[in-house]
Amino acid sequence: MKAARLHEFGGDFVVEEVPTPEPGAGEVRVRVGGSGACHSDLHVRAGEIPVHLPALLGHENAGWVDAIGPGAEGFEIGEPVVVFGGWGCGRCRVCLGGQEQLCDTMRWDGIGPDGGYADYMVVPSTRHLLAAGDLDPALAAPLTDARRSPRTRR
Ligand SMILES: [Zn+2]
Ligand SMILES: [Zn+2]
Repeated sequence: MKAARLHEFGGDFVVEEVPTPEPGAGEVRVRVGGSGACHSDLHVRAGEIPVHLPALLGHENAGWVDAIGPGAEGFEIGEPVVVFGGWGCGRCRVCLGGQEQLCDTMRWDGIGPDGGYADYMVVPSTRHLLAAGDLDPALAAPLTDARRSPRTRR
């Protein structure tokens, strides 16, 4: 697949061929239809948010379910989805309380795990997917980050 990866801090993104990721147990591969360029990505590019290089950024993602790993349930191949980006452990009190983005072990896709600046991305659990209906993925993707939790709503 094609991916736009960062090879050096401060450098340009390099569009290149990389292996298409396979979904493992419980995981889902999404064909990326839209991936937002977030202001945070500028900080990652500048080296202000540590990541391993080369890095595959993109934490605002939407597209279609492309492959389903063993045991992953609740979605069908081809179904349009948006990807919830704050990936927590799924087992702690915070996660079970519905605020996984606040989990102590939370990781953003694209800031550590490979993100959506690519043809495909693997999502670790179906609980990180939401049905997108007929939303245009290019328009829906940025909405996965440009949001407020109930705690920060004013
Ligand atoms: Zn962001
Ligand atoms: Zn947790």
